Amino acid sequence: MNQTSNIHCITLPTPFAVGDVNVYLIEDEKLTLVDTGPKTKEAWEAFLTQINKLGFGVSEIEQVVLTHHHPDHVGLSDYLKDNGTTFIGLAYNEPWLRQDPEFLDHHDAFYLKIYKEMGIEKFHEKAMKQIRGYLAYSCSINIHTIVKEGDRIAGLPGWIVIETPGHAQGHLSLLSEKDGIMIGGDHLIQHISSNALIEPPPIGVQERPKTLIQYRNSLRKLLDLKVNTVYPGHGNPVVHPKDLIKERLMKQEERAKDILNLIIDPPLTGFEICQKLFPSIFLKELGLTMSETLGHLDLLDSKELVQITEKNGVLYFKAKEVV
Ligand SMILES: [Zn+2]
Repeated sequence: MNQTSNIHCITLPTPFAVGDVNVYLIEDEKLTLVDTGPKTKEAWEAFLTQINKLGFGVSEIEQVVLTHHHPDHVGLSDYLKDNGTTFIGLAYNEPWLRQDPEFLDHHDAFYLKIYKEMGIEKFHEKAMKQIRGYLAYSCSINIHTIVKEGDRIAGLPGWIVIETPGHAQGHLSLLSEKDGIMIGGDHLIQHISSNALIEPPPIGVQERPKTLIQYRNSLRKLLDLKVNTVYPGHGNPVVHPKDLIKERLMKQEERAKDILNLIIDPPLTGFEICQKLFPSIFLKELGLTMSETLGHLDLLDSKELVQITEKNGVLYFKAKEVV
């Protein structure tokens, strides 16, 4: 980021494996913060130090745009909410950020069903503990302004909301149309491939979102836009985003092919496939590894390359015979 830019990157520590998170302060008609960081003392202190160094006080932040609901991006919102700051985000994230009890019940029921189908019911409790544990670093706030695809944000002229679901069910990126700078949350990260996490649909929607397919569509969407540089939620700016997108799409195809080779015979459950793919980390990172596995099975299914059978509520996957 050059000296003349009105976008400042603030990097904060997180207690998560992903490492530091970036939030962005935009000096424009309204002083705007994009994402806030996890709710920890360390992150808050780092935030205060850096924002003061930039010459601002916390009470001057007029609005906060949240790219998605994950705790490492939103938790510190709790420390900003009493300043009269306006929170802006997608409708999907609203019940997550309020930690709405009805939504959390729906959330738990959703995962129970998925884990049963994947043949992992016995680890369900462990998985739920992991997921609920993350929420301790999140916040409890109301979104004041709900935005959607193509919306403009008051006080940020020239920026447009681009919905980029996949990594999270409610995920937005902010695109500055004049220079092709995109603040991309976790949509595209240079040093790690973003995980298309399995997440519940909104209350009232029955069908499970096919997150990897969704994520690939959101990656392709950027190929058709003027996006020159992506300022990500983690790591350095992505200076050749379109090359990286093509690489990511290709790697996903390769992984799907590897999975197909694992299930020629006999058919396996999602959990059995997950263990073969991630033998050393599947238990520690159940959510991530199961998302990765199920996402690629969805991709194979969308190409009609797998046969799925159900027995006692558990799904078995087998490569279709190629003629
Ligand atoms: Zn995330």
